[in-house]
Amino acid sequence: MIMVLDVDQAARDLAGGRLACPHCGGVLRPWAWAPVRTVRRLDGTSEPVRPRRTRCSSCHTTQVLLPAWCLPRCGDAAEVVGAALAANATGRGHRGIAADLDRPAATVRRWLRRVRGDHAEWLRRIAVTHLARLCPELVADLHPQPTVLGDAVNALAAAVYAYRHRLGVATDAWTLVAGLTGGRLLTPVPAD
Ligand SMILES: [Zn+2]
Repeated sequence: MIMVLDVDQAARDLAGGRLACPHCGGVLRPWAWAPVRTVRRLDGTSEPVRPRRTRCSSCHTTQVLLPAWCLPRCGDAAEVVGAALAANATGRGHRGIAADLDRPAATVRRWLRRVRGDHAEWLRRIAVTHLARLCPELVADLHPQPTVLGDAVNALAAAVYAYRHRLGVATDAWTLVAGLTGGRLLTPVPAD
């Protein structure tokens, strides 16, 4: 899985042989398409997405190029899940968030459970790593929040600010977060 911030640019890079295999650095080639999936946006609309599949010309592993506004194995866009996490970080409970977002309470509760503890700490660490690379002077300005998720959301917001500021892009905040975290807003990194 490769998270893609600019789908059109990724298509051009793929066609031009400029996308590298994350395993071996070989050239990725167009291979097929992943099945169409429907992803729900924050405004309540749904959008069909058909991600590109690629195959490495050297090691032959396949990779899906997933638009970063989506999340792997999630029917809701990154902006929907992100809004839930940000609201919870300010103290709002899963039922209120579910009502605000017009999502089932059980779905929102599942998202919030997945970012408790270790995963929230991982998100915070990734955000601080990006921030330290983009705008190191801002790392010391991160004020401690009441919860680990609050610290994570705060650091992610700072990383988004730094990314936009340094690279002059206006990409949606949670799309950027999905890109910066490799789509792992809710999914722990597998232990190796
Ligand atoms: Zn490869």
